[in-house]
Amino acid sequence: MQPLIDYARSFRQQTAARPEEFARLAEGQAPQALFITCSDSRVIPSLITGARPGELFELRTAGNIVPPYDPGRPTGEAATIEYAVEVLGVTDVVVCGHSHCGAVGALVRGDDLTAVPAVRDWLTHAAPHAAPRADGTKADGDPAIADAVQSHVLAQILRLRSYPYLARRLDAGQLRLHAWFYEIHTGTVLAHRPSADTFVAL
Ligand code: ZN
Repeated sequence: MQPLIDYARSFRQQTAARPEEFARLAEGQAPQALFITCSDSRVIPSLITGARPGELFELRTAGNIVPPYDPGRPTGEAATIEYAVEVLGVTDVVVCGHSHCGAVGALVRGDDLTAVPAVRDWLTHAAPHAAPRADGTKADGDPAIADAVQSHVLAQILRLRSYPYLARRLDAGQLRLHAWFYEIHTGTVLAHRPSADTFVAL
């Protein structure tokens, strides 16, 4: 932890080198996109995209799960998505899964999660795509679990489409959804290409 504290202590020296850029942030934010990804420490949205402060509105959850739309049950996830779209007016939403994802891996393998009940209960929000396959087989032997994560990302995109205010904007052509997959071991970012229903490198 100490290196992190030391860096944070000296960070203001960096802002002092670019005073106009940081002072402008006090005037408000107009992020280019809502970026929904996993809480995994190996995934750094600003590192992947080169986003500067103010350019990405982030939602990070275990397994980049978007919970089902339920106006009767307030959640931090729903509040973040609503604020990004309704208040900040973001026109692009990215759901970015990643290789070697612990959350999706646990689902695919059917891990016993009784020791982590909050994780177990949260993962029940995952759509069935990431669950063990219908034929009874589980992990396909790929440690990156690329196929499972990519299916899982598409399931979260479908979830977003079920949020009424997002559906309205999608129908009006005012919003774009992007399904991404990040390989933590290569740095490659792939995006879903609907026409071919496959993920290809950006
Ligand atoms: Zn993950």
